[in-house]
Amino acid sequence: MYGAGYRKGTFIVEHQGVETEKDLSVFRNSKYVQSNIGNTFKEALGHLKAGRWVCFSGTPCQIEGFRSFLRGREYEKLVCVDLVCRGIPSPRILTRYIEAQQTLIGGEFTNVLFRDKHYGYHYSSFSIYNKERGKDYHKGVDSNAYLRAFFNNLSDRPSCYDCRFKKRYRKSDLTLWDCFPIEKFTKQMDGKGTTRVLVQSQKGKMIMDAIGNELRTVRVETDKLVSDVREMFHSVPMNPQREQFFKDCNAMSPVDFFRKWFPITWKVRLNAFIRLTCHRLGIYTFAKRMFMLVYTRKDDRK
Ligand SMILES: Cc1cc2nc3c(=O)[nH]c(=O)nc-3n(C[C@H](O)[C@H](O)[C@H](O)COP(=O)(O)OP(=O)(O)OC[C@H]3O[C@@H](n4cnc5c(N)ncnc54)[C@H](O)[C@@H]3O)c2cc1C
Repeated sequence: MYGAGYRKGTFIVEHQGVETEKDLSVFRNSKYVQSNIGNTFKEALGHLKAGRWVCFSGTPCQIEGFRSFLRGREYEKLVCVDLVCRGIPSPRILTRYIEAQQTLIGGEFTNVLFRDKHYGYHYSSFSIYNKERGKDYHKGVDSNAYLRAFFNNLSDRPSCYDCRFKKRYRKSDLTLWDCFPIEKFTKQMDGKGTTRVLVQSQKGKMIMDAIGNELRTVRVETDKLVSDVREMFHSVPMNPQREQFFKDCNAMSPVDFFRKWFPITWKVRLNAFIRLTCHRLGIYTFAKRMFMLVYTRKDDRK
């Protein structure tokens, strides 16, 4: 199985292959940073030629890249899984961000999660776990600089702003992405997080049929499943300040750079306080929906 995980002992994300169920955990959690493919295409091809099963997961561009590498040849024992991908930040920004946090927090980081469920699925946080437990860090999209850069379309790689791989029909067998508005589809799930799975091929269907009984699944008509998914079809627009953002990233100290671009103003604090309070009162999703209803254009709400 191939996917994106941290290189052992570092926070550098790279594609790697694992052989055992236990090792699959390295792929867990979305890493909002470009994963280095390294030699994995070549390695995976070696396994396919030797008649072994290979499951390759990655962003849509990585999966199409892998298919091109295979020169369109079909392998019976190959399963490809891609994601709906908003866009993918440059590794340079992550490196600088971790340097900044190391200066500010100190201690020894044991894990970095881009969308941790510390406060829950609907209000996920950027979390940094430390050897000294008192130093653990959790901040939401409202006040975490890395997530603010990502969702303000400042940090993505240039190709992501004009992505050719955003489409409904993919070269994968299965496409995965989040299902935040789960109540639109079923009342049977809890609020702990649900993943949408779009079957792209006969092989993908066979897999879902085979494992369906072991998962809590609900079948949904495809048009309905993809209808609210902007990121599946449209690239995010490049922030006009992106060039300056990267210039500053290279010229300034990491702490000064993130402070300059994402200062913790009273507005930021208030936003974080309101979100956290709504989360604690158990009305986060409801409040967010109401906010969207009032403040977004009718067309954007679909
Ligand atoms: C960069 C990125 C952007 C995303 N954008 C959206 C979005 O806009 N909307 C949406 O609904 N869902 C998006 N997703 C998908 C979503 O975050 C979940 O990955 C998906 O719902 C599956 O959830 P999961 O909990 O089952 O798996 P997770 O544990 O979240 O994901 C694990 C899988 O993702 C792969 N993966 C993780 N990070 C990377 C990476 N950097 N590069 C390549 N593969 C990676 C791993 O190999 C593994 O197979 C994005 C994921 C990534 C990595």
